[in-house]
Amino acid sequence: MADFRRKPSNAGSPPPRAPRRGPSPEPRVRRHTARLPADVVNHVRMGHPFVYREAMPRTLNEQSGAILELVDGDGQFVARGLYDAEGIVAIRVLSLDPAQAPGPTLWHRRVEQAVALRSKLIDPTQTTAYRIVNGEGDGIPGVTVDRYGDFLVVQLFTAATEPHLEAIYEALVAVVAPKGIYEQRRYKPQTGDGPRAPAQHVRGAIAPVEQIIRENGKQFVVDVTAPLSTGLFPDLRRGREAIARVAPGRRVLNLFSYTGAFSVYAAAAGATHVTSVDLATKAQARARRNFELNGLDLTKATFDSGDAFALLKQSADRGKKFELIVLDPPSFSQSKGRTFQALRDYAELVTAALSVAEPRSLVACAANTHKLSVEDHDRAIGEGAYRAGRMVRTIDRAGLPQDFPVPAGFADGHYLKFNLCYVE
Ligand code: SAH
Repeated sequence: MADFRRKPSNAGSPPPRAPRRGPSPEPRVRRHTARLPADVVNHVRMGHPFVYREAMPRTLNEQSGAILELVDGDGQFVARGLYDAEGIVAIRVLSLDPAQAPGPTLWHRRVEQAVALRSKLIDPTQTTAYRIVNGEGDGIPGVTVDRYGDFLVVQLFTAATEPHLEAIYEALVAVVAPKGIYEQRRYKPQTGDGPRAPAQHVRGAIAPVEQIIRENGKQFVVDVTAPLSTGLFPDLRRGREAIARVAPGRRVLNLFSYTGAFSVYAAAAGATHVTSVDLATKAQARARRNFELNGLDLTKATFDSGDAFALLKQSADRGKKFELIVLDPPSFSQSKGRTFQALRDYAELVTAALSVAEPRSLVACAANTHKLSVEDHDRAIGEGAYRAGRMVRTIDRAGLPQDFPVPAGFADGHYLKFNLCYVE
C-alpha cells in the first residue's frame, strides 16, 4: 500500500538542493520593501508624502534612513521613501518615479531645482531671508533649509535624514556656496530642564551672533546660531505684507510680538502708533533694535514686556481701544501659572482681543500649528466673535509664501493660518 504520508517521489525532476543554511526561511517581503495598504497607496499616489506608523500593517526590520521601495498589494511600485524607525511618520516619500535612483546625484538635483525656483520668486536686493528647501515640497523629506543672508539654517525633523546629511550638505555647499551652515535637530527630545542647545555649526565659517538681513527692503537682526528661532519667521511674510497694506493711519496692537516683525511692517507702512506686547524682555529689546534699524519713530511705539492677556484686561478696563490687532500666539505657553493652548484657548483670546477692538477695526488671527486645521481655526475665530457679541468677517487669508511649496494632495502641509478679519 502506498504510504500517503510520504512526499511524492522526485522521479524525473532535478535532484533536490541541499537544505538551506541560515536561520530563517525566505522572507515573504523582500528587504527594503514595504507593502502599503490600498488606501495608503492612494494617498501616496495623490501626493501625500507621509506613511504614518499606525497605517503600517507590520513593523519593518529596517534602520532609520533606509530607502525603501513602497509597493501595492500586487507588488507594483508605488514610490521610494525614507524610513524612520521611531517617529509617528514611518516613511517619507522620496519619489514616485521608479527611474529616479536615490543617492548624492538625486539630492544635488533636488537642491538645484529648489534654488532655481526661489531665484524666480525672490528679489535678492529686497529679501535676503527666505526658505530654500521646504522638505517634502522640494523632494528633500524631513529637511528645511532657510537662508539668512550668507548663512543657512537647516532643520531636521527625522533621524531618517542622518545617513544622507553628508550628501545634502555637499549639495548645499556646491549649489548655494553659503558662508556657513547651522543645523537644528528638531526630532531630538530636549534633555533635562536646561535651555535648548544652540544650533550646531556644521559647515564653513562661524556666524556672527548678530546679522542683519532684509525682507521686502526692511531690515531685521537675526542670530542663526540661536537654539530655536533666529528672530524672523520667513513663513509669516505674507501675513506681514497683509498687515502693511491695512496699517496706514491705524492704532495697532501686536500681541505675542516676539522681535516685532509685524510691528515694523505696520510702523513702516504708516500706523499712527504701534504697541508690541511680549513676555520676553529679550525679544522686546530686539524689537526696539529692529525699529531703530529701519529708522522708525520710537515716539510712535510702545514695547510692553508683559502678559498679553493681562494687557488686554487692563486696556479693556481703561477703555483703551485699537484699530488693528495682531494675534499670533505660540501653540503652547505658560506664564504665571496660566497655560495657553492654541487648540483649546484660541476662541477665548479672540474674545479678549475684541474687547479692545474699535468698531470697524481689523483683527489678524495667526496660528502656526498643524494641529489646528483651517476649519478649526475659522471656528475658533467665529466662536470668539460670538462670545464677544461682535460680527467678524474674514476679508483676507495669507498662508505660506511661495518659497514654501507644499505637494498637491498634502493639505496638512499648509500648517500656517492667517485670517485678516473685519470687525463691525
Ligand atoms: N508674532 C511673532 C511670533 C510669535 S512667537 C512674529 O511675528 O515673529 C510667540 C511669542 O509669544 C514669543 O515671543 C513668546 O515670548 C510670546 N509669548 C508667549 N506667551 C505669552 C504671553 N502670555 N503673553 C505675551 N507674550 C507671550
